[in-house]
Amino acid sequence: MTNPFESAKYQLRRAADIAGLPDELVNLLSAPMREVTVHIPVRLDNGELHIYEGYRVQHNNWRGPYKGGIRYHQNVNIDEVRALATWMTMKTAVAGIPMGGGKGGITFNPKELSVRELEVLTRGWVKAMSGVIGPEIDVPAPDVNTTPREMAWIADEFGSPALVTGKPIENGGSEGRGTATATGGFYVFETLRDKLFLEPEMGTVVIQGFGNAGGIFAEICVRHELKVIAISDSSGGVYNPVGLDIEALKAHKSTTGSVQNFPGAENITNEALLELECGLLVPAALEAVITVENAPRIKAKAILELANGPLTPEADDILFEKGIEVVPDILANSGGVTVSYFEWDQNMKGEHWTENEVDDKLKVAMVDAAMAVWERKEKYTTDMRRAAFILALERLAEANQV
Ligand code: GLU
Repeated sequence: MTNPFESAKYQLRRAADIAGLPDELVNLLSAPMREVTVHIPVRLDNGELHIYEGYRVQHNNWRGPYKGGIRYHQNVNIDEVRALATWMTMKTAVAGIPMGGGKGGITFNPKELSVRELEVLTRGWVKAMSGVIGPEIDVPAPDVNTTPREMAWIADEFGSPALVTGKPIENGGSEGRGTATATGGFYVFETLRDKLFLEPEMGTVVIQGFGNAGGIFAEICVRHELKVIAISDSSGGVYNPVGLDIEALKAHKSTTGSVQNFPGAENITNEALLELECGLLVPAALEAVITVENAPRIKAKAILELANGPLTPEADDILFEKGIEVVPDILANSGGVTVSYFEWDQNMKGEHWTENEVDDKLKVAMVDAAMAVWERKEKYTTDMRRAAFILALERLAEANQV
């Protein structure tokens, strides 16, 4: 299955089937409530006018305002945004926060634009989405290639901090939001570690992605005495079986622009990295990187999906057969949107919580979500993806107003 929206719908259907949940619920959740496509004119630095295509898919709001990031990438298309929006609805339900699901995107390569052009484009997206987004309607956040800087432009253009989450602290952001995806993922991993039969001697980790999710997850692993033996960015990866010095690698990347050619490590392709023998494999970049083609060659003991949709449904089946446990995205990376909800809540109440307060609440949410998913996995003797979808569907069924 190469279309991510087809995958998302298939995941919904097969989870509902084993739990005996109604077809009607699946049909409702297979059609996003609203989809908006806009065209944003930007005067480039060279004087040319370029028109960019942007999207917002508002998948479902039964449990609260639509919630989800905005992605900048040359491959962004409406079906990808639909899939990502669907996964947000399921994710906010799994995390147990009172939000729905949405996603946005603009199709372009952000590396090709200057900072001024990026700002004009970002503000243009907000203007074009006037009446579509709002603090009680739909609350955007960072995603691939968008950062607190873009969120500050979005809040400023709209005129209210509560419109968007993932802002810098000085613009109304929350403590702990920048590290929340990785920290939440680690809490989920710790909660499930014994259940995944990951013995201490299997404490080797391979990570695809060195951004906000993968890079910070690597640092947390090292703090917990797990060995990160390989990590990559979009240009490729590096491998050292005795473990990488992540701090030094960060410095190397900031001077050379990539992780490759790191002293003492071997260069490795993104494809080969996924097939390394390790305890935990963490795809933390883009979707559909483990498919029917390479799934038979995966040698990790378990997978933690920090990216959205890194495995196709066919890959899920192959890994299930091989006994490789997959902690699905809608649980594993739900720490990001959970702290986004905390940020929105603080903005709505005019509060600012301490880092400890945020961290305590995040931990409780992640442990609860992981345990609730595990319970469904045991009850239905299924994989964790289906278990997480079942949990989300149960919570959505309760909120269904149709
Ligand atoms: N883009 C992140 C995700 O996929 C965060 C969304 C949010 O914070 O609203 O979960």
